[in-house]
Amino acid sequence: MPRPETVVPDQVAAPYPVAFDSSIVCGFGRGSSELGIPTANVNLNDGLNQLDVGIYYGWCRLTKVDHPECQVKRDDGNTVSFNYGNDLAADEVDQALPMVMSIGYNPYYNNQEKTAEVHIIHKFPHNFYGARIQGLVLGYIRPELDYTTKEALIKDINTDITIAQEVLAREPYLEYRTSV
Ligand code: ADP
Ligand code: MG
Repeated sequence: MPRPETVVPDQVAAPYPVAFDSSIVCGFGRGSSELGIPTANVNLNDGLNQLDVGIYYGWCRLTKVDHPECQVKRDDGNTVSFNYGNDLAADEVDQALPMVMSIGYNPYYNNQEKTAEVHIIHKFPHNFYGARIQGLVLGYIRPELDYTTKEALIKDINTDITIAQEVLAREPYLEYRTSV
């Protein structure tokens, strides 16, 4: 199925903004290693659960958490280092950053469990597992689609990123930077 055209409303309209506030947890580790597009996995809350599965755009904000670094063993047996965002630079914390967010089951990977994952549109030199992430989902881009190839999935995610950047630069969406 080809991706449906994204129609962006002129104003942020109900049910948006949908807020979340979570610590960054670890997932399967496929975003970075296989796709080159890391996603910070967050806990679902009531607001996020009310949204249809699919891809969304909005603003998020990272905050360092005062906690010593530690190692966490992932389900796949790999160890993940939790630094709680303490390596983040000054221009990466406490301010709005653009994001695309996926809510759902990742049909390409056939996941059983529903997840919420945020790709922040910024190049980070380090991971920041355990950091606090707050966000405002402002609108919907497309449904989850099943892909026959990894390349097709990557191409669509890059289109999502371009759409998010274009929408978030518009005044009614830009305004929410100060609310996240
Ligand atoms: P996991 O399955 O554990 O979520 P990923 O491969 O999706 O693994 O990588 C996610 C981690 O990568 C995030 O938790 C975060 O620490 C880091 N990261 C680095 N750059 C980004 C980015 N631009 N957006 C989101 N997370 C990023
Ligand atoms: Mg992820």
